[in-house]
Amino acid sequence: MKNKPETAYVLVVDDEEGIRSGAERILNRMGLKVLTAARGNEALDIMEREDVSLVLLDLKMPGLDGMQVLKRIRESDQNILVIIITGYATVETAIEAMKQGAYDFIAKPFEPDHLRIVVNRAREKIRLTFEAENLELERKRTLSDLGTEKSRVRTIIESLPNGIVVTNSSGQVALMNPAFLRHIGFDTLSCITGEQISHYVKDDGFCRLVMEISQGSHPAVGDVPTYEFSPAEGKFLMARGRPVLGDENECLGAVIAVEDITALKLLDRLKSEFVAKVSHELRSPLSTIHEQIALVLKDMAGEESNDEKLILARAKEKTGGLISLIGDLLDLSRIEAGAVCHEPKPVNIDILLKNIVDFLGTRAKSRQQTLTLELPDYPLPSLTTDPMALESIFGNIITNAINYTQNGGKISVKAVLADNKLIIKVKDNGFGIEQAYIDKIFDKFFRVKNEKTRLITGTGLGLPIVKGLLKDLGGSIAVESTPGSGSVFTISIPV
Ligand code: ADP
Repeated sequence: MKNKPETAYVLVVDDEEGIRSGAERILNRMGLKVLTAARGNEALDIMEREDVSLVLLDLKMPGLDGMQVLKRIRESDQNILVIIITGYATVETAIEAMKQGAYDFIAKPFEPDHLRIVVNRAREKIRLTFEAENLELERKRTLSDLGTEKSRVRTIIESLPNGIVVTNSSGQVALMNPAFLRHIGFDTLSCITGEQISHYVKDDGFCRLVMEISQGSHPAVGDVPTYEFSPAEGKFLMARGRPVLGDENECLGAVIAVEDITALKLLDRLKSEFVAKVSHELRSPLSTIHEQIALVLKDMAGEESNDEKLILARAKEKTGGLISLIGDLLDLSRIEAGAVCHEPKPVNIDILLKNIVDFLGTRAKSRQQTLTLELPDYPLPSLTTDPMALESIFGNIITNAINYTQNGGKISVKAVLADNKLIIKVKDNGFGIEQAYIDKIFDKFFRVKNEKTRLITGTGLGLPIVKGLLKDLGGSIAVESTPGSGSVFTISIPV
């Protein structure tokens, strides 16, 4: 910000003492700070030292005359206004002086009012120039602030370790930071934005997600849509996206953050391998202990119930539980390693379901439950898949229905074909599941703990196994449940 013009001096330059003192008096009364000079050189010296905004300049002076002084002032500072003081005879010279850049002129001798008018006009001009200059300065500063802010945000985005890609509402890329380009294996220098996202990333699922978010198919609040993909052998990325909304809440495009999760994946794989290894090593000795306890218990069959027998029975139950946990852990490791349908063969669904229901029927009967199977009057198509995987899926769901239903309850299994999908509904009128746990029951080791389930043994791995197997088969599972009334598990497998 420049100094305010009111604080600057008015300089009166005239060789006539009377003019100098007269002008000084009038100007002082106007509240102005005044300096005077009798010669041109003296005036220029003062202007070097002091802040002068207006000069009243006599043209005719001994030594350096007014014209020369005016020329020097114009050369050194364009902002200082000069009012020429001149006698009648030299009006033409005054006009000439104005051509040379003087602002106004006043003829000698002048009336105080006349001087006041001329000086006030010049002051107004100085004030307006000052304001215009300050506005210009302000504008430049705002522009430079905006520029700095923009480049600061850009620097932040560019130095983020996570990849960022921004698209418009048509899915065209507007911005990619260097981390994103590195993640997807592009050269950071030669890559130009503006193409569709599919031009840069060759993964259909990722491009679909970006298009969906860009076109406003995902809400801006709530769960963040995520997608995991592998752009190259041994590299895994996790993408999370949000729509960018305009003032009217219209979707302007998408911002997608991409994180490298290769290390996490590796850690997860190592953990699964470790669990698989330990489980495998534990299975044989545990099975041996289990069988030996069973043998001892068989030998004691004739004896009356005693403490030893009770302890052994408890030990047998515990080892049985551990063996089933190990079995589930090994199944899960195999599924996570992607080793599911290794030997696909045609599987007749009608027969497979009948066998499972027959087999589990004994268990249901021991609890006075009715377990029914309802097949359509048309034959179900046979699926080419791993029969063990299907057995595990249906077996787990029906076993759960039996386990989590009171004695005397009802369980029904119903299969239909709809939209090229095999739909199997397993319905029970058992304990049901509270809404808060519906999503959690598919997490590893999650078990609902309440009065009713307290004594039911289980590993919490059945449903994660079912979900993993179904994912491999391209299928899905859904649950509807009412606590106290029962649950329906709906399995859908593409034919
Ligand atoms: P597990 O049966 O070994 O505990 P699962 O993963 O098969 O493990 O099931 C997880 C939890 O889901 C169970 O502990 C149980 O609380 C609940 N659950 C599963 N099926 C049913 C069902 N049909 N009715 C009520 N609760 C169920």
